[in-house]
Amino acid sequence: MSGKNIILFGPPGAGKGTQAAKLVKRLKVPHISTGDMFRAHLKNQTALGNKAKEYMDQGALVPDEITIGMVRERLSQQDVQEGFLLDGFPRSTPQAKSLDNILSDLAISIDKIINISISDQEIIKRLIKRAKIEGRTDDADESIIKNRIDTYKSQSEPCLAYYRPLGIVIDIDGIGSKRKVFNRIKRILK
Ligand code: ADP
Repeated sequence: MSGKNIILFGPPGAGKGTQAAKLVKRLKVPHISTGDMFRAHLKNQTALGNKAKEYMDQGALVPDEITIGMVRERLSQQDVQEGFLLDGFPRSTPQAKSLDNILSDLAISIDKIINISISDQEIIKRLIKRAKIEGRTDDADESIIKNRIDTYKSQSEPCLAYYRPLGIVIDIDGIGSKRKVFNRIKRILK
């Protein structure tokens, strides 16, 4: 298998978290989810968590001065040396450029970006369902979901154009069962 420095990309509800859990088990690399990191901070009532919540609750991106430092700190830990799965970062072109800086300081690079796509209709359907199961406040309200979709389209999706010329973006259809989608990912990682 080729390098194991991987980014999992896609709109909210595309199944990044679900597929990431399966993938890290297989690849034996740490799962680095910025959304999970913010939620852990929030649970522990840290200043960073309370600040992040203001933005998460609106479906907006947490400002880069908070997010990038947190990711830099995480990627400087020892356990990423054999690879890592970044989930939810980068989420904008400036974040992609910052990631380049962080990685070049560590003398490593990204090997693959797995871009999972689903339709807007499917996003809304899945998030409303997830709100009932997981109780995430940013899934509960349709106007917040709409903001997250808008944020994705205006800020996150453009960062794919930053990576496409490098030939490392792999597009995966996110529609279908969890197992089907995972099989698609496995196939491209072989
Ligand atoms: P989802 O992919 O379902 O939107 P995440 O758990 O990845 O869920 O993210 C939840 C929220 O956390 C986002 O809507 C955003 O407010 C914040 N967040 C996560 N990652 C980033 C990031 N890289 N930059 C800024 N904000 C982020």
